[in-house]
Amino acid sequence: MEKICVAVRVRPPVSLETSGGVFWKVEDNRVSLHRQHDTPVSGTSYAFDHVFEETCSNARVYELLTKDIIHAAVEGFNGTVFAYGQTSSGKTFTMNGSADNPGVISLGVKDIFDAIQMMSNREFLVRVSYMEIYNEEINDLLAVENQKLQIHESLEHGVFVAGLREEIVNSAEQVLKLIESGEVNRHFGETNMNVRSSRSHTIFRMVIESKGKDNDSSSTDAIRVSVLNLVDLAGSERIAKTGADGVRLKEGKHINKSLMALGNVINKLSDGVKQRGHIPYRDSKLTRILQPALGGNAKTSIICTIAPEEDHIEETKGTLQFASRAKRITNCVQVNEILTDAALLKRQKLEIEELRRKLQGSHAGVLEQEILKLRNDMLKREKLQLELEEERRSRKERDQCVREQQMRLQNHNSLVTSSGGNGSHSEEQNSKRQSFCEECSDSNGICQGGAFRTPCSKAAPNAFVVKRSNYSRLPEYSPLPDTFSNVADEDTWLKMNKGYIADLDSLQMTPATKVQSFPLNDGTPGCSNENYRDVQKLKRQLENVTEEKNEFQRKYSEEKILNARLTGEISELRQEVLVIREIPRRLYESVVSSKDFYEDLLCSMKSFAADGESSTAKKLVSISEIGSSLFSTLETNFLMAMDGDKSFSNNDSLVREQCKEEESTCWKEKLSSELNTIKEKYHGLEKDLDLNNKFLETSKEMYDSLEREFRLLQEERDSLLNKVSESSQTLTMVTDQKENVLKDYNTEVEKKKNLEEEIKQFSAAFACRQKSLVSFHSDLKSKIEKLRAQNPVSVPKSRG
Ligand code: ADP
Ligand code: MG
Repeated sequence: MEKICVAVRVRPPVSLETSGGVFWKVEDNRVSLHRQHDTPVSGTSYAFDHVFEETCSNARVYELLTKDIIHAAVEGFNGTVFAYGQTSSGKTFTMNGSADNPGVISLGVKDIFDAIQMMSNREFLVRVSYMEIYNEEINDLLAVENQKLQIHESLEHGVFVAGLREEIVNSAEQVLKLIESGEVNRHFGETNMNVRSSRSHTIFRMVIESKGKDNDSSSTDAIRVSVLNLVDLAGSERIAKTGADGVRLKEGKHINKSLMALGNVINKLSDGVKQRGHIPYRDSKLTRILQPALGGNAKTSIICTIAPEEDHIEETKGTLQFASRAKRITNCVQVNEILTDAALLKRQKLEIEELRRKLQGSHAGVLEQEILKLRNDMLKREKLQLELEEERRSRKERDQCVREQQMRLQNHNSLVTSSGGNGSHSEEQNSKRQSFCEECSDSNGICQGGAFRTPCSKAAPNAFVVKRSNYSRLPEYSPLPDTFSNVADEDTWLKMNKGYIADLDSLQMTPATKVQSFPLNDGTPGCSNENYRDVQKLKRQLENVTEEKNEFQRKYSEEKILNARLTGEISELRQEVLVIREIPRRLYESVVSSKDFYEDLLCSMKSFAADGESSTAKKLVSISEIGSSLFSTLETNFLMAMDGDKSFSNNDSLVREQCKEEESTCWKEKLSSELNTIKEKYHGLEKDLDLNNKFLETSKEMYDSLEREFRLLQEERDSLLNKVSESSQTLTMVTDQKENVLKDYNTEVEKKKNLEEEIKQFSAAFACRQKSLVSFHSDLKSKIEKLRAQNPVSVPKSRG
């Protein structure tokens, strides 16, 4: 178990002015809040592994906090270094640095290659990737086309980002160039607090694989694989301070939400191993990716940057509380060695040889036994390995199965949602779209797959030097919801920093995944409407069948009640019949006894008339004859009645059985025919359902392709909008120019008018002068004439 290394770095103040209130004081590895006269504020002193003051250079931070992790990564340990803190506190400065003060990443990269040079007995393969998490979506910074990448988990790779480009590198310069090209694609924005604020979390990752060189006798062929993450988090921010609105606000809320998820994970981890319980790594992509670094198999350092200004005290306290909790986390670090079969055998062989050497000179029997034991061990391991392989294979199959099931389920769900659209189904369009889908999936397939696969990295070497502006258009059109009222706000973030566990479930999940990129019922052409009708029809049929079934059940229960009542009545009647059947027998018995009594009576009467000739005697004889014939008739009748009853009862049971048989066969036939019709209906429904499922699958594909087309159109629209805004700007410029020219023209016209006015005045003055000149001239002439007239001699003769 190893504790996470936590340090705090204080940024130099932005201005040298101090407000004179409180200030943060750094002493050794402790930072505490002090009042003006150097008295500490109680409860605000925090100690960490290191505290770096304002003047500290990136090189020193690297030396004390990162160097060990870098060297351990070369030896096969996973490592993570990340910077945490409020916006503008110096995270990017620490990780990336500047030209004269290189950051942790560039120092680390250089050190890795130096360390590799030093390890002459091992061969290395280094791959790098660079990604950002922007608005809860993972984008590849080395390949702009790899957007919205998914996180997967597998036994072999653990948690990894599928489809991420990995470049094989062999020098620090090459890596730094890649980082430079990746930086171009990173999302930055301007806020009140930082003119170039990082709006995304970036993860620079190096995968270092190494293997002992073949000529090294002590090497075992085991491959060491370690992953090094150097993370520059986007800053946590209080929206009120950053002055963020629109796109910046949305980004800010996403940033705060994922940092809250990170805070939750840290809170849980800091509870100690026993009380930990469930760690919510899955609440954000950031925590999911950093999972091994937080409580897992990685050496981890956290650099918490703070701003010294007094107006950031609350945020600084939050950061320091976060750092205090992070300090309590322990990780379980070990070298990641992959033993291939050959490596395992080689290692065993070395062990055996070692043992042989040790036991030289001792008893051969002991030696043999040891060797035997080792061999057994070896066999056991091989067996275990085989079992493991088998288990892996079956797990893969199971995973595949689950994936397929999920796909089916998704298809089904999307069918149900997409069935609300309207439009007509066209086979031709459908097939076109299907082929388009296939093309898309093919082209995607080239770059998708496990993060540790190299083929992706061999793609077009210059492809990654593309500006994100080429594909990422106006952010106003990003598919995010307009309202973020219940998304992580800054106050929750502040509370979280103080140890409060934020309930992320009550917040909106990644909006982009929840919000549909375009409405479902906007006239999507295709067969969805038909499918919808089919589904409705099937539903109705199903309802009818259910109704029929219910009706049958109701009738059946009525029949049952009637049957029970009739059975009761029949048994009552049977009792009565039995009683009635007893009557002839009883009557017969009473007739027999009456006959005996009658014969006795006649005998005694005959004894009174012993002569036999008297009329009384004669009458007695005839009475006895009548009586005996009457009694014998009664006897035969009753005997007949008794016999008849027996035969009747026999007949009755026969008839009843016959009736029963007929009735049951009739019922059976009726039921079987009904069963057949139900079966037929069921089969029909099943077929319809299959057909419908197929329809729905096709419509789902069409929907996907339409969505893709829609996205393309959206991009086109965005670019057109850009152009429109550009031309509107030019238009405004031209209009401005025109207005200026018009103004100039008007002044010129004004000037011209003034000039004309002046010319008029001038010509009037000129005319006046001319007039006076003419009069002066005529005066002069008349005077000359006068003079000439007065003195004609002195005037010279004119030439003409
Ligand atoms: P963050 O990434 O935390 O939002 P930055 O790293 O972008 O913040 O830092 C904001 C500003 O402060 C940058 O202009 C940066 O050059 C500066 N700065 C941060 N830390 C230091 C430091 N230790 N020394 C000098 N300048 C720093
Ligand atoms: Mg930054």
